[in-house]
Amino acid sequence: MTAWRLDHSVRRDTMDALSDAVWGDVLEYVRAHHATVARGWFSRLRPGPLSSGNLTIYVAKSDQLEYMEAYCVGSFVEAAQAATGRLVSVTFSLAAAPSPPRGVESERVSFQNDGSLARLNPEYQFEHFVAGPSNQLAHASCLAAGENPGRAYNPLFLHGAVGLGKTHLLQAVCHQILDDAPASKITYLSCETFINHFVEAIERGAIDTFRYRYRHADALVIDDMQFLSGHERTQDEFFHTFNTLYQVQKQIILSADCAPSELPRLEERLISRFNWGLVARIDAPSLETRLAIVRKKARLRSIDLPDEVTMLVATRIKTNTRELEGAITRIGAMGALNNGVIDRALAEEALVDHVAPPPPEVRIQDIMSVVTGVFGVKLSDLQGRRRSRSIAFPRQVCMYLARQLTRHSLEEIGGFFGGRDHTTVLHANKLVSRRRENDVEFRSRLESIVEDLRQD
Ligand code: ADP
Ligand code: MG
Repeated sequence: MTAWRLDHSVRRDTMDALSDAVWGDVLEYVRAHHATVARGWFSRLRPGPLSSGNLTIYVAKSDQLEYMEAYCVGSFVEAAQAATGRLVSVTFSLAAAPSPPRGVESERVSFQNDGSLARLNPEYQFEHFVAGPSNQLAHASCLAAGENPGRAYNPLFLHGAVGLGKTHLLQAVCHQILDDAPASKITYLSCETFINHFVEAIERGAIDTFRYRYRHADALVIDDMQFLSGHERTQDEFFHTFNTLYQVQKQIILSADCAPSELPRLEERLISRFNWGLVARIDAPSLETRLAIVRKKARLRSIDLPDEVTMLVATRIKTNTRELEGAITRIGAMGALNNGVIDRALAEEALVDHVAPPPPEVRIQDIMSVVTGVFGVKLSDLQGRRRSRSIAFPRQVCMYLARQLTRHSLEEIGGFFGGRDHTTVLHANKLVSRRRENDVEFRSRLESIVEDLRQD
């Protein structure tokens, strides 16, 4: 009897189709819990039969199928199980009925990278990018190019140091163009791949195919153009590719680690073309931008960072956003091993490779000049023998600061301030420390003096 029921339920499964409501739940779940993989065209996915515990999901295009298989199996399995309350596996399949014409390369979306389809990182979209003063122009021009390819800024040239978001922005434009027009043919690749393809094409005598591929793109997006330096023949080929696409108003977006005019061993005619459109520099992000990036990346990874830790990461890592991201991942992993508890101590441990840079060396002359300013005493008084309280106390502050902030010995410090011995310095140190403990106003004054000194 039990066996029959089981068998029966399996056969009922075979006939199941997901109701629109359940399918809606699946999509909503993916969008809510796996925002990084969700794409605009998910609304065009169609549920197939739920058969023997496996749900087939139909995808309209082969590149979308590749994307689903590469990035989305786990999230859809989870979503299908949550929405149906059953143990369900998921298979993606190309929609059979109105199948797209096959074999016509120019009609397919094509990410060429080493001859195969290049995968865009699903996280590298505009919604996951934090705009700030350091990248505002680059961000705005990429948005415009994505919305209005070939018309807004052409060519668009981004440059900046490593890890500042060039690749992210380039791919965000590709995502945007594809979201708006999924049939667009975008050639996105690194400059090295372009060079390799060109060399191979020459070796195989297939230069015509190469040219057809690159000169019939709706958008040509090439990362890390600095690698073109010194490759004269490839530069010549690129020059003609550029001209062909430019003339028919196809969007060209390039990135490099420096401005066009600073690219070494690059033909003048290319440099001048790169400057035809818009050149946007990306600088290192400000603290506010870094804080926003840390929050965004942590949220994307479902890592709950206390404010104190967010601040620690953003102040410790200043120049390279990729390192910022690595730190968040490390903190998240360590937090998971720590029963999900992420606190300052754990973050400090995760950031051991990013110890705060040693504060700049403080010179005794700087201490004296700050103290004379704050206490209204003369330099000569500090180094003199007078012991009146109005002079003795600022002198003791100098000794304390020299002890705390410089590497001079007690003897040296004592000698410097009016030929005193080391016990005088010890006494001064103790006295000022005690006052610092007991007198809130004095403490904040002292702290601002130290801060001033450290900033020089
Ligand atoms: P580049 O190509 O300039 O070396 P990437 O685009 O690879 O840098 O960026 C490195 C990492 O930092 C990526 O994971 C990217 O998502 C992230 N990143 C950089 N800038 C930002 C930003 N402004 N907002 C969000 N993420 C950023
Ligand atoms: Mg890059």
